Amino acid sequence: MSERRLAYLNAMGIEVWVPRDPVAQAIDAVVPVELAEPTIPVGGNTSQLRADTNLPISDLPLDALRTQVAQCTACELHASRTQTVFGVGNPQAEWMIVGEAPGADEDRQGEPFVGRAGQLLNAMLKAVGLERGDVYIANILKCRPPGNRDPQPEEAAQCTPFLNRQIELIQPRLILAVGRVAAHHLLQTDVSLAKLRGSVHRYDATGSPVVVSYHPAYLLRSPKEKRKAWEDLQFARQAIRKYQ
Ligand code: SF4
Repeated sequence: MSERRLAYLNAMGIEVWVPRDPVAQAIDAVVPVELAEPTIPVGGNTSQLRADTNLPISDLPLDALRTQVAQCTACELHASRTQTVFGVGNPQAEWMIVGEAPGADEDRQGEPFVGRAGQLLNAMLKAVGLERGDVYIANILKCRPPGNRDPQPEEAAQCTPFLNRQIELIQPRLILAVGRVAAHHLLQTDVSLAKLRGSVHRYDATGSPVVVSYHPAYLLRSPKEKRKAWEDLQFARQAIRKYQ
């Protein structure tokens, strides 16, 4: 391991340790998780028309999609947002990071994963040799839920076609779902995050491989779990290589 990577791991607060089993073996040993019946309708139909345009979302390039999102009033969150938070990063990214929804910092700045949680995400990415600009970062919801409450099912259903179109355009080789809400929404399950970790799942709407990890905001509150997040990132990196 390079000194640079060691420094990033130190910055994350992770002590370097050697996993008992090589990550590649863990991937080979993956047993598909039995997913529960869907409880939240995923708005997977990107051909639906929005009220404020005659163009289907499935025909929109990324810039036009961003404009659509900025004008969206499809759910009540539009009334309380400062601005929409569309997504950021490399449109040809191999990794797509998907979180839950904008928080206060994101709502203010219009960019996902900024503030302390964003800095930790950046450090986590660097620990596996990635810069923030190498990946694409987005959320399930593009507008901030008041008080950072969990997204309501109908809000997620209304907003998901935007995320699906982002995934269709970017075509990431892997989606890293960070946090319980993002993982449960993408995988349509209520299985615990602990059980979802360490497996390669699939997002049905786009067929994309999905690996699950903790949300950086949770890691800030529970720093002992950072080691597991690093383990997840290594697993994701191996999974990308495996599914080339
Ligand atoms: Fe539209 Fe999504 Fe914002 Fe709701 S959260 S208003 S669906 S962009």
